[in-house]
Amino acid sequence: MLKLSGASLGSLVLSPGMKALGNNPPGTKSSDPSQTNSYFNALPTFTPPEALAADEMRITILGSSCIPRLSQECTSVYVEVGTGDQFVFDCGTGVAAKYNAMGIPMSKMDKIFFTHLHADHTSDLTHIYGFGPAEDRKSPLFIFGPMDSGWTYYDPKGNQRGPYNDGTRAFCENFREMNRWHTESFSFGVTSLPGYELPKQEDWGLPAPLSKVSDDNFDDGFCIYPIELNWNNFGKVPGDNVAYHNPTTDVRITHFPAIHTRRGSISYRLDWKGLSMIFSGDSKPNQEMLSHAKGVDVLIHEMVMPAAVWAQKNSGLKPGDSGYEQAYNYALEVQNSSHTPQGAFGYIMSQITPPPRLTVATHFQAEDDTITSAIRSVRNHAPVGELTFASDFLVINVSASRILQRRALVSPYAFYPSSPPPDSVNTPLYWKWQDEAHTIPVGDPTVQIIMTDEIPNIDPDTGLVNYSIDGY
Ligand SMILES: [Zn+2]
Ligand SMILES: [Zn+2]
Repeated sequence: MLKLSGASLGSLVLSPGMKALGNNPPGTKSSDPSQTNSYFNALPTFTPPEALAADEMRITILGSSCIPRLSQECTSVYVEVGTGDQFVFDCGTGVAAKYNAMGIPMSKMDKIFFTHLHADHTSDLTHIYGFGPAEDRKSPLFIFGPMDSGWTYYDPKGNQRGPYNDGTRAFCENFREMNRWHTESFSFGVTSLPGYELPKQEDWGLPAPLSKVSDDNFDDGFCIYPIELNWNNFGKVPGDNVAYHNPTTDVRITHFPAIHTRRGSISYRLDWKGLSMIFSGDSKPNQEMLSHAKGVDVLIHEMVMPAAVWAQKNSGLKPGDSGYEQAYNYALEVQNSSHTPQGAFGYIMSQITPPPRLTVATHFQAEDDTITSAIRSVRNHAPVGELTFASDFLVINVSASRILQRRALVSPYAFYPSSPPPDSVNTPLYWKWQDEAHTIPVGDPTVQIIMTDEIPNIDPDTGLVNYSIDGY
């Protein structure tokens, strides 16, 4: 087990015998401290699938950066509990491949909680939504997220801008239509199952009854139900910040405001049978975090590397180079409007009482050199307390007696996870009868296209075979 205490500062470099495999993409193994993450690589391994004990919560990091990189795609956290409920928190660029590699089926990715609507937290929704019904999510998608920002301003020409429909419902409405060509084209396949019952407001303790965004059938896999959360609610009026409370699985998810770029960003806290986790999303250090994080088991909090380091790594420029000053100032502005510097992360860690059992830095490009710098800054403020750095495929098992960190071993060649075929299905939207008696309905992927110019496998004039259709 890694303990990133101050004492481990002296052992930052890979020892000669240590294997640097882990999250380095094949062929990129390196002893360059900017090209390896020896902390992550030294974790004990986890091989999915692994059953979850009834009293355990498992947190899997599938995306841990804000820039897409092979070692760390953009943000996503997957949380499962032993009573059989599971949640996706954000799904940024590149994480669909990571979920796939972990063998997480689409049917378990139907409740998505957005902390805010930045693209590094939402981009892979397109894949999850578009291909869920082709896999085993033949039921609607539920998207939780903040309501409209309500923000209005005047641009340099004096024109009023806003208020816009920039909340989660408008996002889902437009997203649904953006995907119209895709969803129509894929509706030759089964997208719903008989007997589906839509959760009622009280089943999930929702802030409002479910309301879909389009003319999709209520039970269809392409139907989206947004659940808008009032980011003005802090939990000061008891219960006003509950996003989800399922009495059957005992999971309760609440939200509280974050400070990030634009009104409307939120953080989430999940409570289940005495265990808890917080996912900050993106935020500057803030008081709400200190009060909501009291006694939390796992705090997953964003952290940004120093502006000078960010500017150099991201622009390739060095201090003194032409353009460096602009790169630095931009990085500083992003930090100051939106993010938590390393020292502030340590300060937050030190101010939460009782402290988290484990604090996880995420949204942070974690490699040996950046981790070295971060540990120094964090430990200046928080000399004690368990600290770790998120990397994709970090798996954290949480129970009352232990918190176990491991790194998942996965195949870069994974297909979708297999799932048993359903016992019975509803007729696809695009269908035809397979038999003359009209008893066997089947989808027909060709009904939507013009086939007059198709080259047939057997030439109708000569009867000669043009090509084989069995794929070989
Ligand atoms: Zn972000
Ligand atoms: Zn953001």
